[in-house]
Amino acid sequence: MGFTGQAHILERLKNEIKNGTLGHAYAFTGEKGIGKRTLAHYMAKTILCTEKGNDIEPCGKCRSCRSFEEGVNPNFRVIRNETKKILIRQIRDMIEDISVRPAEGKKVYLIEEADLMTVDAQNCLLKTLEEPPPYCIILLTTSVYESLLLTIRSRVAQLRLKPYTEGEIKTIAKANGIDIRGKEYLTSLCGGIPGRIFELASDKSFEENRNIVMRFVFEADTRSRLDFNQYLSKNKSAVSSCMDILESIYRDALMVQCSVTDGLINSDKKDNIIKYARGLSPDDIFAKISGIEEIRSNLKRYMNYQLAVDMLTLAL
Ligand SMILES: [Zn+2]
Repeated sequence: MGFTGQAHILERLKNEIKNGTLGHAYAFTGEKGIGKRTLAHYMAKTILCTEKGNDIEPCGKCRSCRSFEEGVNPNFRVIRNETKKILIRQIRDMIEDISVRPAEGKKVYLIEEADLMTVDAQNCLLKTLEEPPPYCIILLTTSVYESLLLTIRSRVAQLRLKPYTEGEIKTIAKANGIDIRGKEYLTSLCGGIPGRIFELASDKSFEENRNIVMRFVFEADTRSRLDFNQYLSKNKSAVSSCMDILESIYRDALMVQCSVTDGLINSDKKDNIIKYARGLSPDDIFAKISGIEEIRSNLKRYMNYQLAVDMLTLAL
């Protein structure tokens, strides 16, 4: 089975495999939840497959593919943090393992969340990145690429993952057994990040959050404001999700004001949004969106929680 999305990366890697020009180190970068680890695993499996054929896809049948799927492929090793950081000891172990030549083919090493490597660990990795044995390929994943040492970055090829299209998100959700029938807005709300749709779909309070936010916006009376206020006061964990939902409604309202009614995030509430957008000017809506942004960043700076809730529910 092929891989969904990220064609710009897969095409490049497949061509490199085909032409024998594969590099010795790659960094998969992109937002948290975008699927860096999944793609790195897919790439490792492809490299190690002994029956790839012309389409350069892992066959899923050869000994290497089968042991890979079982997580016991001797030529694939994952390094991740065992404590808060990835320690120099772990990188030393990896380098020792690299020095052992494989019986055949390549050896692939994957350092997950490579930015967790201590500076010592990164410096220790440098030498290997400079002169790796020809059979060795090192893959890194990180959502904060810039925090890696420049000397590391200059020795790896960066592969930046792009947000997925809604169609791709649907395919990924289905492949992972997530039923989004009747909840199509989830595919828009996740912003092209598969990890978010997994989170949203498994978040039992999401529907409740959404209902209360919808009432707050569309009814806009004292009662719904107070209900929303009390709800957030009691459910601190819901505030981030509620702000996302709120922002998505405001963005939809802006779209409607620009006469765009297709592709709304909350397409199931289209009529409400059209009615709502009519009663406001674009400036009103921009002010609401920047109000949310301000509260969001104030909360990160440890603003008093109840004050943030009051601003969100009573002042917006
Ligand atoms: Zn295979």
